[in-house]
Amino acid sequence: MHLSRFPRLHFAHLPTPLEPMPRLTELLGGPDLWIKRDDCTGLSTGGNKTRKLEFLMADAQQKKADTIITPGATQSNHTRQTTAAAAKLGFECHVLLEDRTGSEDHSYVYGANVLLNQLHGSTISKRPADTDMDAAMETLAQELRDDGKKPYIIPGGGSNEIGALGYVNAAIELMTQANDRSLRIDHLVHATSSAGTQAGLVLGMEGINSGIPVYGIGVHSPKAKQEEKVYNLAQITAEYMGLNPDIVQRDKVVVNGDYVGDGYGLPTDSMVEAVKLMAQYEGILLDPVYSGKGFAGLVDLIRKGRFKKGENVVFLHTGGSVALFGYPNTFDLPGYV
Ligand SMILES: *Cc1c(COP(=O)(O)O)cnc(C)c1O
Repeated sequence: MHLSRFPRLHFAHLPTPLEPMPRLTELLGGPDLWIKRDDCTGLSTGGNKTRKLEFLMADAQQKKADTIITPGATQSNHTRQTTAAAAKLGFECHVLLEDRTGSEDHSYVYGANVLLNQLHGSTISKRPADTDMDAAMETLAQELRDDGKKPYIIPGGGSNEIGALGYVNAAIELMTQANDRSLRIDHLVHATSSAGTQAGLVLGMEGINSGIPVYGIGVHSPKAKQEEKVYNLAQITAEYMGLNPDIVQRDKVVVNGDYVGDGYGLPTDSMVEAVKLMAQYEGILLDPVYSGKGFAGLVDLIRKGRFKKGENVVFLHTGGSVALFGYPNTFDLPGYV
Protein backbone atom coordinates (compact mmCIF):
# COMPACT_ATOMS: atom_id res chain seq x y z
CA MET A 1 0.00 0.00 0.00
CA HIS A 2 2.02 2.86 -1.38
CA LEU A 3 0.45 6.04 -0.06
CA SER A 4 3.35 8.33 -0.97
CA ARG A 5 2.04 8.29 -4.54
CA PHE A 6 -0.76 10.61 -3.45
CA PRO A 7 -0.45 14.29 -2.58
CA ARG A 8 -0.44 14.76 1.17
CA LEU A 9 0.34 17.45 3.70
CA HIS A 10 1.65 16.58 7.15
CA PHE A 11 -0.07 18.47 9.95
CA ALA A 12 -1.63 15.69 12.05
CA HIS A 13 0.19 14.59 15.19
CA LEU A 14 1.03 11.03 14.15
CA PRO A 15 1.30 8.31 15.15
CA THR A 16 -1.47 8.78 17.70
CA PRO A 17 -0.93 6.86 20.96
CA LEU A 18 -2.16 3.29 21.44
CA GLU A 19 -2.90 2.87 25.15
CA PRO A 20 -4.18 0.08 27.41
CA MET A 21 -7.37 0.65 29.43
CA PRO A 22 -6.75 -1.50 32.53
CA ARG A 23 -9.47 -0.04 34.73
CA LEU A 24 -12.26 -0.50 32.18
CA THR A 25 -10.92 -3.94 31.30
CA GLU A 26 -11.21 -4.96 34.95
CA LEU A 27 -14.62 -3.35 35.43
CA LEU A 28 -16.19 -5.01 32.41
CA GLY A 29 -14.50 -8.37 33.00
CA GLY A 30 -14.24 -9.19 29.28
CA PRO A 31 -11.48 -8.70 26.71
CA ASP A 32 -8.35 -6.64 27.24
CA LEU A 33 -9.30 -3.14 26.10
CA TRP A 34 -7.02 -0.75 24.26
CA ILE A 35 -7.66 2.71 22.87
CA LYS A 36 -6.18 4.28 19.74
CA ARG A 37 -6.14 8.01 20.43
CA ASP A 38 -7.26 9.66 17.20
CA ASP A 39 -8.80 12.29 19.45
CA CYS A 40 -5.18 13.50 19.72
CA THR A 41 -4.46 14.35 16.07
CA GLY A 42 -3.58 17.89 17.06
CA LEU A 43 -5.63 20.28 14.98
CA SER A 44 -8.17 22.32 16.99
CA THR A 45 -8.65 19.62 19.69
CA GLY A 46 -8.20 16.78 17.21
CA GLY A 47 -10.33 14.03 15.78
CA ASN A 48 -10.52 11.60 12.89
CA LYS A 49 -11.17 14.16 10.14
CA THR A 50 -7.63 15.51 10.44
CA ARG A 51 -6.15 12.36 8.89
CA LYS A 52 -8.50 12.72 5.91
CA LEU A 53 -7.74 16.42 5.58
CA GLU A 54 -4.03 15.76 5.10
CA PHE A 55 -4.93 14.23 1.73
CA LEU A 56 -7.93 16.45 0.91
CA MET A 57 -6.19 19.76 1.55
CA ALA A 58 -3.18 18.61 -0.48
CA ASP A 59 -5.56 17.88 -3.36
CA ALA A 60 -7.17 21.33 -2.95
CA GLN A 61 -3.74 22.97 -3.10
CA GLN A 62 -2.75 20.95 -6.14
CA LYS A 63 -5.96 22.05 -7.89
CA LYS A 64 -5.06 25.68 -7.10
CA ALA A 65 -8.21 26.26 -5.04
CA ASP A 66 -8.36 29.27 -2.69
CA THR A 67 -11.67 28.57 -0.94
CA ILE A 68 -13.01 25.48 0.84
CA ILE A 69 -16.70 24.62 1.07
CA THR A 70 -17.82 21.81 3.37
CA PRO A 71 -21.05 20.64 5.04
CA GLY A 72 -21.87 19.12 8.40
CA ALA A 73 -24.50 18.74 11.08
CA THR A 74 -24.72 21.66 13.52
CA GLN A 75 -22.19 20.19 15.97
CA SER A 76 -19.95 18.80 13.23
CA ASN A 77 -16.42 17.91 14.28
CA HIS A 78 -15.55 17.59 10.62
CA THR A 79 -16.30 21.25 9.89
CA ARG A 80 -14.30 22.32 12.98
CA GLN A 81 -11.21 20.44 11.83
CA THR A 82 -11.70 21.62 8.25
CA THR A 83 -11.96 25.27 9.25
CA ALA A 84 -8.80 24.88 11.34
CA ALA A 85 -6.91 23.27 8.45
CA ALA A 86 -8.17 26.01 6.12
CA ALA A 87 -6.97 28.67 8.56
CA LYS A 88 -3.56 27.02 8.89
CA LEU A 89 -3.11 26.75 5.13
CA GLY A 90 -4.54 30.16 4.22
CA PHE A 91 -7.80 29.11 2.53
CA GLU A 92 -11.09 30.99 2.85
CA CYS A 93 -13.68 28.57 4.27
CA HIS A 94 -17.47 28.33 4.01
CA VAL A 95 -19.40 25.90 6.19
CA LEU A 96 -22.99 24.81 5.57
CA LEU A 97 -24.61 23.36 8.68
CA GLU A 98 -27.65 21.08 8.38
CA ASP A 99 -30.02 21.27 11.35
CA ARG A 100 -30.59 17.52 11.81
CA THR A 101 -31.76 17.55 15.43
CA GLY A 102 -34.06 20.61 15.59
CA SER A 103 -32.53 21.52 18.97
CA GLU A 104 -32.95 25.15 20.04
CA ASP A 105 -30.58 24.82 22.97
CA HIS A 106 -28.25 27.82 22.86
CA SER A 107 -25.16 25.75 23.66
CA TYR A 108 -25.98 23.36 20.84
CA VAL A 109 -26.80 26.01 18.23
CA TYR A 110 -24.01 28.52 19.04
CA GLY A 111 -21.50 26.82 21.32
CA ALA A 112 -18.85 24.11 21.12
CA ASN A 113 -17.98 23.22 17.51
CA VAL A 114 -20.04 26.12 16.11
CA LEU A 115 -18.07 28.58 18.23
CA LEU A 116 -14.78 27.05 17.10
CA ASN A 117 -15.79 27.15 13.42
CA GLN A 118 -16.25 30.87 13.78
CA LEU A 119 -13.11 31.34 15.84
CA HIS A 120 -11.13 29.79 12.98
CA GLY A 121 -12.59 32.50 10.73
CA SER A 122 -14.99 30.48 8.58
CA THR A 123 -18.34 31.73 7.32
CA ILE A 124 -21.17 29.53 8.56
CA SER A 125 -24.73 29.30 7.30
CA LYS A 126 -27.59 27.05 8.30
CA ARG A 127 -29.83 24.75 6.24
CA PRO A 128 -32.97 22.88 7.37
CA ALA A 129 -32.95 19.08 7.93
CA ASP A 130 -33.01 16.95 4.78
CA THR A 131 -31.64 19.71 2.57
CA ASP A 132 -29.79 18.36 -0.49
CA MET A 133 -26.43 19.50 0.86
CA ASP A 134 -24.54 18.59 -2.33
CA ALA A 135 -26.85 20.85 -4.34
CA ALA A 136 -26.57 23.61 -1.71
CA MET A 137 -22.76 23.44 -1.89
CA GLU A 138 -22.81 23.53 -5.69
CA THR A 139 -25.01 26.66 -5.61
CA LEU A 140 -22.59 28.34 -3.21
CA ALA A 141 -19.62 27.22 -5.31
CA GLN A 142 -21.15 28.84 -8.39
CA GLU A 143 -21.70 32.11 -6.50
CA LEU A 144 -18.08 32.03 -5.35
CA ARG A 145 -16.83 31.30 -8.87
CA ASP A 146 -18.88 34.26 -10.11
CA ASP A 147 -16.96 36.35 -7.56
CA GLY A 148 -13.66 35.13 -9.02
CA LYS A 149 -12.86 32.52 -6.36
CA LYS A 150 -11.67 28.97 -6.90
CA PRO A 151 -13.76 26.84 -4.56
CA TYR A 152 -12.98 23.24 -3.60
CA ILE A 153 -15.80 21.15 -2.17
CA ILE A 154 -15.00 18.68 0.61
CA PRO A 155 -17.91 16.25 1.01
CA GLY A 156 -19.58 15.49 4.35
CA GLY A 157 -17.11 14.02 6.84
CA GLY A 158 -14.35 14.29 4.24
CA SER A 159 -15.52 10.88 3.06
CA ASN A 160 -14.51 10.24 -0.51
CA GLU A 161 -11.69 8.19 -2.03
CA ILE A 162 -9.17 10.91 -1.21
CA GLY A 163 -10.13 11.38 2.44
CA ALA A 164 -10.37 7.63 3.02
CA LEU A 165 -6.63 7.37 2.29
CA GLY A 166 -6.12 8.90 5.73
CA TYR A 167 -7.60 5.77 7.27
CA VAL A 168 -5.77 3.39 4.97
CA ASN A 169 -2.72 5.05 6.51
CA ALA A 170 -4.17 4.69 10.02
CA ALA A 171 -4.56 0.92 9.49
CA ILE A 172 -0.89 0.62 8.55
CA GLU A 173 0.09 2.82 11.50
CA LEU A 174 -1.90 0.73 14.00
CA MET A 175 -0.49 -2.52 12.64
CA THR A 176 3.05 -1.19 13.04
CA GLN A 177 2.35 -0.13 16.63
CA ALA A 178 0.90 -3.55 17.44
CA ASN A 179 3.83 -5.37 15.84
CA ASP A 180 6.37 -3.20 17.68
CA ARG A 181 4.94 -4.25 21.05
CA SER A 182 3.92 -7.81 20.07
CA LEU A 183 0.26 -7.01 20.62
CA ARG A 184 -2.12 -9.39 18.83
CA ILE A 185 -5.20 -7.33 17.95
CA ASP A 186 -8.36 -9.42 17.66
CA HIS A 187 -10.88 -6.67 16.92
CA LEU A 188 -10.90 -2.99 16.00
CA VAL A 189 -14.11 -1.17 16.97
CA HIS A 190 -15.20 2.39 16.18
CA ALA A 191 -18.16 4.69 15.45
CA THR A 192 -19.14 4.99 11.78
CA SER A 193 -21.19 7.64 10.00
CA SER A 194 -20.04 9.19 6.70
CA ALA A 195 -18.06 5.97 6.14
CA GLY A 196 -14.58 7.24 5.25
CA THR A 197 -13.03 5.99 8.47
CA GLN A 198 -14.33 2.44 8.19
CA ALA A 199 -13.83 2.23 4.41
CA GLY A 200 -10.20 3.28 4.76
CA LEU A 201 -9.59 0.98 7.74
CA VAL A 202 -11.11 -2.08 6.08
CA LEU A 203 -9.23 -1.45 2.86
CA GLY A 204 -5.98 -0.86 4.75
CA MET A 205 -6.38 -3.89 7.02
CA GLU A 206 -7.21 -6.16 4.07
CA GLY A 207 -4.52 -4.63 1.88
CA ILE A 208 -1.78 -5.45 4.39
CA ASN A 209 -3.26 -8.87 5.19
CA SER A 210 -3.59 -7.96 8.86
CA GLY A 211 -6.38 -10.41 9.61
CA ILE A 212 -7.88 -7.78 11.93
CA PRO A 213 -11.66 -7.50 11.62
CA VAL A 214 -13.04 -3.97 11.71
CA TYR A 215 -16.35 -3.53 13.54
CA GLY A 216 -18.30 -0.33 12.91
CA ILE A 217 -20.96 0.90 15.30
CA GLY A 218 -23.47 3.04 13.43
CA VAL A 219 -24.55 6.43 14.80
CA HIS A 220 -26.76 7.52 11.90
CA SER A 221 -28.08 4.92 9.44
CA PRO A 222 -29.43 1.40 9.90
CA LYS A 223 -27.02 -1.53 9.47
CA ALA A 224 -27.74 -2.45 5.83
CA LYS A 225 -27.56 1.12 4.55
CA GLN A 226 -24.36 1.89 6.46
CA GLU A 227 -22.65 -1.31 5.32
CA GLU A 228 -23.51 -0.49 1.72
CA LYS A 229 -22.08 3.00 2.11
CA VAL A 230 -18.83 1.71 3.63
CA TYR A 231 -18.48 -1.10 1.08
CA ASN A 232 -19.01 1.24 -1.89
CA LEU A 233 -16.47 3.75 -0.63
CA ALA A 234 -13.93 0.99 0.10
CA GLN A 235 -14.33 -0.25 -3.51
CA ILE A 236 -13.96 3.23 -4.98
CA THR A 237 -10.93 3.93 -2.81
CA ALA A 238 -9.27 0.64 -3.84
CA GLU A 239 -9.76 1.56 -7.49
CA TYR A 240 -8.40 5.05 -6.87
CA MET A 241 -5.29 3.44 -5.36
CA GLY A 242 -4.91 1.22 -8.41
CA LEU A 243 -5.81 -1.94 -6.47
CA ASN A 244 -8.24 -4.69 -7.33
CA PRO A 245 -11.51 -3.77 -5.54
CA ASP A 246 -11.96 -7.48 -4.70
CA ILE A 247 -9.34 -6.87 -2.03
CA VAL A 248 -12.32 -5.88 0.14
CA GLN A 249 -14.88 -8.67 0.25
CA ARG A 250 -18.43 -7.66 1.13
CA ASP A 251 -18.40 -9.78 4.30
CA LYS A 252 -15.44 -7.81 5.71
CA VAL A 253 -17.70 -4.76 6.04
CA VAL A 254 -19.54 -5.16 9.32
CA VAL A 255 -21.72 -2.52 10.96
CA ASN A 256 -23.92 -2.84 14.03
CA GLY A 257 -26.86 -0.42 13.85
CA ASP A 258 -28.35 -1.17 17.28
CA TYR A 259 -26.98 1.86 19.15
CA VAL A 260 -28.26 4.83 17.09
CA GLY A 261 -31.26 5.36 19.38
CA ASP A 262 -33.84 7.89 18.16
CA GLY A 263 -31.51 9.34 15.55
CA TYR A 264 -28.27 11.07 14.70
CA GLY A 265 -27.12 13.44 17.42
CA LEU A 266 -29.94 12.49 19.81
CA PRO A 267 -28.66 11.24 23.17
CA THR A 268 -29.24 7.68 24.40
CA ASP A 269 -29.00 6.34 27.97
CA SER A 270 -26.24 3.92 26.95
CA MET A 271 -24.22 6.81 25.42
CA VAL A 272 -24.51 8.76 28.69
CA GLU A 273 -23.31 5.71 30.62
CA ALA A 274 -20.44 5.08 28.18
CA VAL A 275 -19.20 8.70 28.30
CA LYS A 276 -19.25 8.58 32.12
CA LEU A 277 -17.47 5.20 32.27
CA MET A 278 -14.66 6.40 30.02
CA ALA A 279 -14.35 9.71 31.89
CA GLN A 280 -14.43 8.13 35.35
CA TYR A 281 -12.36 4.97 34.79
CA GLU A 282 -9.79 6.12 32.22
CA GLY A 283 -9.86 9.92 32.42
CA ILE A 284 -10.64 10.17 28.70
CA LEU A 285 -13.39 12.30 27.14
CA LEU A 286 -15.67 10.75 24.52
CA ASP A 287 -18.38 12.69 22.69
CA PRO A 288 -22.19 12.49 22.71
CA VAL A 289 -22.75 11.97 18.96
CA TYR A 290 -20.16 9.45 17.78
CA SER A 291 -17.56 7.95 20.09
CA GLY A 292 -20.02 7.87 23.04
CA LYS A 293 -22.51 5.76 21.06
CA GLY A 294 -19.69 3.70 19.56
CA PHE A 295 -18.25 2.90 22.96
CA ALA A 296 -21.77 2.25 24.34
CA GLY A 297 -22.07 -0.43 21.67
CA LEU A 298 -18.75 -1.98 22.63
CA VAL A 299 -19.66 -2.02 26.35
CA ASP A 300 -23.00 -3.68 25.64
CA LEU A 301 -21.46 -6.27 23.31
CA ILE A 302 -18.82 -7.12 25.95
CA ARG A 303 -21.61 -7.62 28.49
CA LYS A 304 -23.39 -9.90 25.99
CA GLY A 305 -20.22 -11.94 25.38
CA ARG A 306 -19.66 -10.89 21.75
CA PHE A 307 -16.08 -9.87 22.64
CA LYS A 308 -14.43 -12.32 25.01
CA LYS A 309 -11.89 -12.64 27.78
CA GLY A 310 -8.43 -13.33 26.36
CA GLU A 311 -9.07 -11.23 23.25
CA ASN A 312 -7.47 -7.84 22.62
CA VAL A 313 -9.98 -5.24 21.46
CA VAL A 314 -8.87 -1.81 20.27
CA PHE A 315 -11.42 0.99 20.42
CA LEU A 316 -10.58 3.74 17.95
CA HIS A 317 -11.33 7.07 19.64
CA THR A 318 -12.39 9.25 16.73
CA GLY A 319 -12.54 12.48 18.77
CA GLY A 320 -15.36 14.98 19.22
CA SER A 321 -15.21 15.74 22.94
CA VAL A 322 -15.70 19.47 22.22
CA ALA A 323 -19.32 18.59 21.39
CA LEU A 324 -19.86 17.76 25.10
CA PHE A 325 -20.19 21.53 25.59
CA GLY A 326 -23.08 21.51 23.10
CA TYR A 327 -24.94 19.01 25.33
CA PRO A 328 -24.55 20.54 28.81
CA ASN A 329 -27.80 19.17 30.24
CA THR A 330 -27.55 15.62 28.95
CA PHE A 331 -25.38 14.06 31.63
CA ASP A 332 -27.44 14.63 34.77
CA LEU A 333 -24.43 15.75 36.83
CA PRO A 334 -24.70 16.59 40.53
CA GLY A 335 -23.46 20.21 40.45
CA TYR A 336 -21.85 21.64 43.62
CA VAL A 337 -22.37 19.68 46.80
C1 LIG B 1 -17.03 12.06 11.81
C2 LIG B 1 -16.85 11.34 13.08
C3 LIG B 1 -16.98 9.94 13.16
C4 LIG B 1 -17.39 9.09 12.01
O1 LIG B 1 -16.40 8.93 11.02
P1 LIG B 1 -16.85 8.74 9.52
O2 LIG B 1 -15.60 8.68 8.75
O3 LIG B 1 -17.71 9.93 9.19
O4 LIG B 1 -17.65 7.49 9.43
C5 LIG B 1 -16.75 9.32 14.37
N1 LIG B 1 -16.43 10.05 15.46
C6 LIG B 1 -16.31 11.38 15.43
C7 LIG B 1 -16.00 12.09 16.70
C8 LIG B 1 -16.52 12.08 14.24
O5 LIG B 1 -16.41 13.42 14.24
